[in-house]
Amino acid sequence: SNPVLSIKDLRVSYTTGLGTVNAVDGVSLDIGAGEIFGLAGESGCGKSTIANAVMRLLQAPAKITAGSIDLNQCNVLTLSDEELRRTRWRDMSMVFQSAMNAMNPVMTIGEQIMDVFTTHEKMPKKEARERAAHLLSLVDIKADRLKSYPHQLSGGMRQRVVIAIALALNPSLLIMDEPTTALDVVVQRDIMAQIKELQQSLGFSVLFITHDISLMVELSHRMAVMYAGRLVEVAPSNVLLDDPLHPYTTALMNAFPPLSGPRTELLGLPDAPPTSAGRPSGCSFHPRCPLAMDACRIQDPVLRPAAENHDAACLLVPEFVVPPERLAQ
Ligand code: SF4
Ligand code: MG
Repeated sequence: SNPVLSIKDLRVSYTTGLGTVNAVDGVSLDIGAGEIFGLAGESGCGKSTIANAVMRLLQAPAKITAGSIDLNQCNVLTLSDEELRRTRWRDMSMVFQSAMNAMNPVMTIGEQIMDVFTTHEKMPKKEARERAAHLLSLVDIKADRLKSYPHQLSGGMRQRVVIAIALALNPSLLIMDEPTTALDVVVQRDIMAQIKELQQSLGFSVLFITHDISLMVELSHRMAVMYAGRLVEVAPSNVLLDDPLHPYTTALMNAFPPLSGPRTELLGLPDAPPTSAGRPSGCSFHPRCPLAMDACRIQDPVLRPAAENHDAACLLVPEFVVPPERLAQ
């Protein structure tokens, strides 16, 4: 079946007085129907830039210089403002890190949810109120909270409300950019487990962005690891957990141990990822890679098959060759 989201060779750059930064440098990925796809990497690697490009929320000086983004076979990059208004909420919606910023502090929770229904679906008020109560029940919040203001709810509850609003019009794609990073670990896991449940019952696809690779492994079906604007490894999440092939993936895994252990800085990785200073020669990761060889300073590895359904961009990983008997079929 066709992918819900298909990104092909996306390039986004920022030009400032300091020069041009290729924030997203040739990223391709597909997300299938009902799939939870995770995008992991340190801050500044370009994950949020991809999310904002899909939502058409990029702001100057960020600019898409090449590539395509299709949502349900429809080119997102050429939508008019009017078409974009209809597409957001109905076809795709996004949850950001700070629920407080996404909400209006002087409107009740009920008014904010009903607003989505009355503006986008011209729904009568009474029906909108019933739908709002139902939506809150999906995220385990009692209907009497419809009368509450955002500041009267806990951080976790506010984020649940924002998620409920994002799902109000049954979008086929939900984008979540560090949706629970501001919350404590137990609340984070609770909320993400709930999203997985909702995803199973409602069937939407998810693009889930986080720097917390262990949380992602638990919750996503398939995931990509991003470094300096490129995907460096893509695989089903359980495969990536058991058999990471890229040294950067391994470093991220070590920095974010599974379950609720303390989060540490990236263990053993000196310095920071490349920034406006420009991309290092050869493999962008070589200045920080514990396994770097001489060739890594010269040769730039491309993302290629390393096993079935498993791509990696590292000179140490041999290319997977499909057995000839299978090609003949
Ligand atoms: Fe490390 Fe070299 Fe692989 Fe890059 S290509 S990840 S520097 S071993
Ligand atoms: Mg970000």
